[in-house]
Amino acid sequence: MPDQTLALHRVQHRVYDLTGVRTGSVRDQLLRSTLVAEALCDQQLVRPGVENGLLVLGAGAAGMNAAMAAASRGVDVCVLEIEPRPFSRLSLATWRRVDPCEYDWPHPHHGAGRFPLLPAAAHRVPLRQRRASGARLAQLFMHTWQQRLTLQAAVGWCGGQVQLHTSADAKLFLPLQPAGVTPTTAATAIDVPGPWHTLQPGAVAGKSRRFAAVLSCIALAPSAALKTSRLARRPCGAAMAAPVSGKTTTAYPTRASPER
Ligand SMILES: Cc1cc2nc3c(=O)[nH]c(=O)nc-3n(C[C@H](O)[C@H](O)[C@H](O)COP(=O)(O)OP(=O)(O)OC[C@H]3O[C@@H](n4cnc5c(N)ncnc54)[C@H](O)[C@@H]3O)c2cc1C
Repeated sequence: MPDQTLALHRVQHRVYDLTGVRTGSVRDQLLRSTLVAEALCDQQLVRPGVENGLLVLGAGAAGMNAAMAAASRGVDVCVLEIEPRPFSRLSLATWRRVDPCEYDWPHPHHGAGRFPLLPAAAHRVPLRQRRASGARLAQLFMHTWQQRLTLQAAVGWCGGQVQLHTSADAKLFLPLQPAGVTPTTAATAIDVPGPWHTLQPGAVAGKSRRFAAVLSCIALAPSAALKTSRLARRPCGAAMAAPVSGKTTTAYPTRASPER
């Protein structure tokens, strides 16, 4: 029977998108990315072993969470991030409080500020969210990622490897248009073209890499969001404040944008 989570996020054969469906909140993205990563493993669409790995586009909360969830099941994961660091977008939200329970009123856990999951389920989500500013949350996520890297480097680590390539525009590697990736539904892998040699020492120029599935977690980049936000088009709206006194300000508008 087809997996419903995968069916919901599938955009083409072995390609899944976490941003097409209404993205909602950080919590939604963490839960959704965990479910998709687990479903890919459960359905054996990605597996341990060369050429059975997962390619993740975007190292935001969703992308990194999915990568770590799949790796904990032994799958090798490659993540492409356009910025020099993961969680870059969240880290710009210096003043916006992000609360995993903010939309849960009037449920009793509304004020708890913690993931409303049973402990047995919560441990499956690699990135733990709690009430904090976006920037602080990005720091906490970064800490978890650093710990994960240390574990990965440890002798005896039996999970999959997560290879994070920063300053790499995923669009150069994967044409996201339909039919640009793989033509048949029988294919068990996707050949991803792109300048891999610029990221991997020893990789041959022009040679594609093979993945068993691709998960796109590329949300609107701040500049693109700016263009589409009604608030941002106001001449004095200050929806996306410019840096003041050399400090970087948040990428979020002051009020909920029309998209949410
Ligand atoms: C105006 C606004 C206000 C919001 N307020 C809240 C709130 O108060 N609370 C809450 O929980 N949620 C809020 N959200 C939603 C929340 O920001 C998102 O759900 C969450 O950040 C999505 O995480 P993500 O990992 O999917 O995407 P992002 O955090 O956007 O991560 C995407 C990553 O992909 C990278 N990327 C982009 N393009 C490329 C490319 N071409 N190649 C490689 N990498 C690329 C980016 O650099 C980024 O690291 C808000 C959203 C908006 C737009």
